[in-house]
Amino acid sequence: MSFDIQKARQETPGCQEVLHFNNAGLALMPQLVFETVVSYLQEEYMHGGYETVLARSQQLEHAYDACATLLNCQREEIAIIENATRAWDMAFYSIPFSPGDRILTGMDEYASNYIALLQVARKTGAVIDVIPNDESGQISLAALRNTIDERVKLIALTHVPTNSGLVNPAGEVGQIAREAGVLYLLDACQSIGQMPLDVQAIGCDFLSATGRKFLRAPRGTGLLYVRKSRLEQLEPPFLDLHAAEWTTPDHYQIRDDARRFENWETNFAGKAGLGVAIDYTLSWGLEPIQERVIALATRLRTQLQTLPGITLRDIGAKKCGIVTFQVQGKTAEQIRESLAQHSINVSVSDRSSTRLDMEARGLEEVVRASVHYYNTEEEIERFCTALVSL
Ligand SMILES: *Cc1c(COP(=O)(O)O)cnc(C)c1O
Repeated sequence: MSFDIQKARQETPGCQEVLHFNNAGLALMPQLVFETVVSYLQEEYMHGGYETVLARSQQLEHAYDACATLLNCQREEIAIIENATRAWDMAFYSIPFSPGDRILTGMDEYASNYIALLQVARKTGAVIDVIPNDESGQISLAALRNTIDERVKLIALTHVPTNSGLVNPAGEVGQIAREAGVLYLLDACQSIGQMPLDVQAIGCDFLSATGRKFLRAPRGTGLLYVRKSRLEQLEPPFLDLHAAEWTTPDHYQIRDDARRFENWETNFAGKAGLGVAIDYTLSWGLEPIQERVIALATRLRTQLQTLPGITLRDIGAKKCGIVTFQVQGKTAEQIRESLAQHSINVSVSDRSSTRLDMEARGLEEVVRASVHYYNTEEEIERFCTALVSL
């Protein structure tokens, strides 16, 4: 089946303005998503916000069904939260740790997650153990298996890191977590929307993700999946009148579903847009999307390799739509700026967002070019030509 690239681009007006290789930062919204958000705001503007929630309740509720379909879970297992970081936090900070409890994580953990690990370790006496990568650059499954013991409480892993093209073997890690009976929290920010994700197949207890990246949803949207069997065991770090009900002057009752991790006031227009963005993604199909993204990224890597002065910095046995590299004699920021003058969007990934990996590889920063299905082979040519001309 061939991908209707013309349709994809027609429905993405931003394609006419920019060559957008910054999908790992923020993908261009499809027209339908943009119009959903604008019309939602328009309705609030003209009719009132509470009234719009009632009038649009079906659309807002549908966002949960869309998330559940996307991840292969139940709608009661979904919380929609303002961003992925807070979604991850709500899961992580609800886990009670005791001194000596072990938290296993990988070399490619995102800064926000790792800062939280450090804070909780300092406060509770839990210990962080970083699993090394294998020769290919992905988390070493052998090392993970060997280090598991009864003190391990959590495996916290980033599926696709922000800075290296890598796809970690989330399902294999899930199998190890299941066998050991430990909690497994997966950060799927960069994988959601560019490849199929099935929480049953992965075997995670929690999955956090953002709307703004490969899902092409509005900013300020994120989601959290929480496995039903874990819901009751975990008390959210914050509660409000949405997460719980004040039942008598001295008591409250926490909600049964994953919305116990949400809070009352939120980005309603964004939530509507998130549901539409997921429907739109599903209408293309995650398998075809993945196939196209990998084909484009592979082509980009192959072309970059032939250019003088460029060093690819991607790692991993399995790679995705994120392509990272350095240019001899130029800083990543200089490259980003020069490309921006040609209306080409890339971003810079610096050491502080994935410190363990970047330090281990002796890297300060890389240029990150991230492709999506609406990008084209012709754009890759133009991108490489522009790079050479710098
Ligand atoms: C972008 C990113 C996040 C943060 O997502 P937000 O929605 O901005 O909070 C978390 N983890 C990884 C791996 C990311 O790339």
